[in-house]
Amino acid sequence: MSTSSVRTLSGIPASPGIAIGPAFLLDRQEFRVQERDLAEGDVEREVDRFQEAIVRTRDDLIVLQERIAGDVGEEIAHIFGAHLTLLDDPEMVGATIARIRRERKNAEWVFNAIMQRGIATMAAATDPYLRERTADFEDIRHRVLAHLRGEQRLPLADLTSPVIVVAHHLSPSDTAEMHRDSVLGFVTDGGGRTAHAAIVARGLAIPAVVGVDVATREIEHGSLIIVDGNDGAIYLNPDEDTLRRFEEARTKQSAVERGLTRLKDLPAVTPDGHAVDVSANIELPSEIDGVLSSGAVGVGLYRTEFLYILRPTLPTEEEQYASYWDIAQRLAPKPVIIRTLDLGTDKVLHQLDLPHEANPALGYRGIRICLERPDLFKAQLRAILRASTMGNLRIMFPMISGLAVLRHSKQILDEARAELDGAGIPYDRSIPVGMMIEVPSAALIARDLAREVDFFSIGTNDLIQYTLAVDRSNAKIAAYYDPFNPAILRLIASVVEAGHHEGLWVGVCGEMAGDPITAFLLLGLGVDELSMSTIDIPEIKKIIRSVTFSKAQAIAQYAVTLSTSKDIQDYTQAEFQVCFKNAIGYE
Ligand code: PEP
Ligand code: MG
Repeated sequence: MSTSSVRTLSGIPASPGIAIGPAFLLDRQEFRVQERDLAEGDVEREVDRFQEAIVRTRDDLIVLQERIAGDVGEEIAHIFGAHLTLLDDPEMVGATIARIRRERKNAEWVFNAIMQRGIATMAAATDPYLRERTADFEDIRHRVLAHLRGEQRLPLADLTSPVIVVAHHLSPSDTAEMHRDSVLGFVTDGGGRTAHAAIVARGLAIPAVVGVDVATREIEHGSLIIVDGNDGAIYLNPDEDTLRRFEEARTKQSAVERGLTRLKDLPAVTPDGHAVDVSANIELPSEIDGVLSSGAVGVGLYRTEFLYILRPTLPTEEEQYASYWDIAQRLAPKPVIIRTLDLGTDKVLHQLDLPHEANPALGYRGIRICLERPDLFKAQLRAILRASTMGNLRIMFPMISGLAVLRHSKQILDEARAELDGAGIPYDRSIPVGMMIEVPSAALIARDLAREVDFFSIGTNDLIQYTLAVDRSNAKIAAYYDPFNPAILRLIASVVEAGHHEGLWVGVCGEMAGDPITAFLLLGLGVDELSMSTIDIPEIKKIIRSVTFSKAQAIAQYAVTLSTSKDIQDYTQAEFQVCFKNAIGYE
């Protein structure tokens, strides 16, 4: 949305929606930690005081973990497992006690010094996972210091009137402590879409923009701001005009949402009778209620990485089985595509202690890790197979670059099957096995691959990154990340054709599937399924139900013949306006 002269800040849209309200600058000013020398007779009392603060902090976290498990789900509650582990860390607790005794200094001073050193090391780490964990360390530091200072409550729990929280960093527990009634939205200087705080915000449906860099410097406490979680923009002290437009946009958004939710139980069929499966992408099992109420035909992509990265230890086969079974039975008979572990770049698994690499997106990631760690891979495959008896699960391999990798993956799947057979454990013997098409080499030999799988799902997020050689998470080169590039459309068209030629079902589960204009093109290219965040489903259903397949086909077929991205975009946009001028939300 354009605004005239209002100052704006931009960041990464972490959780969608519009929030308007007064800024609440979270007091994360440094505690003034005083250094005190202790008399010899006071040293053990000081050690006791420190241990007491640790116990109280642990009690707080356990209460919080239980509350979050009930409110948002076990997976998010696992985040606090990492905090709790930190409280038992001998490096931290043991070293603090040893130094209190050795140096005869007060607990606040020693503990703060040790934590600050750890935080500085983590903040400078090249590993993004470690950098994101500094927020956990900060959180523990504040909580323990607050107890040592005799403070009972933390600021976020005290909020009574609705505000937009502005902070340098928000820890997952900060976010989890937010009450939806009193926190309208939040903005942080740091963080990323995969930071835990952002994940919790999406779970709680709180609009959020992260990675704003200068938010705490530029936003004044108490000033009115607008947070546009859809576009990643913050408007400071908006004028009447801007305010009115965003208020309208917010009202319209809810009206559109209300209008669109009426579509939820209607099938995604074009007026000339062409049906498309509209499915949901999920990261956490706690999103299933949203899937059920969204009108999705099933789950087109379950990114299982989050089952691994939101916890301090690797999940066991049993834990995974329980989770997949829960998903399968809650969604049955709707199909659920479980994508096997796809770690890499931003999704880092600290439990595996992976080496730092110069080019992580091109490195040891995704299926490559799984093939080198059959123990890990097989535990996941066995868990999925065991949960498949309900008959609605499907397995999907990510990052397949060619036949050798596909065959190797299937061979390990066969071994997992054989192990279950040997143990007499039942599973769905005809479970469909598919692969993502997200590496250009796979797209180019799609026909050969199609003969060896049951379905394709095109991962446009990575397909664009790899085809155009553009890092998908680098904001500096974002303009080069272009779904309308003719190379992308032609690759997608050829994959759909190759898949259909071999009798395969072809879906798309990258972000292109949930964007109105690109979804419109994908519909015309003949994809069988569009899988997206649940929030996008009604709008995409509306598009499918409003345009004939023959019209969408004609438009897409012409678009792929154009040679520049601009021509494709201008042409598609113009056709889109014509087709949808009467549709809800597009007038
Ligand atoms: C993709 O690459 O398009 C995709 C859906 O997978 P992810 O975003 O998890 O890499
Ligand atoms: Mg991908």
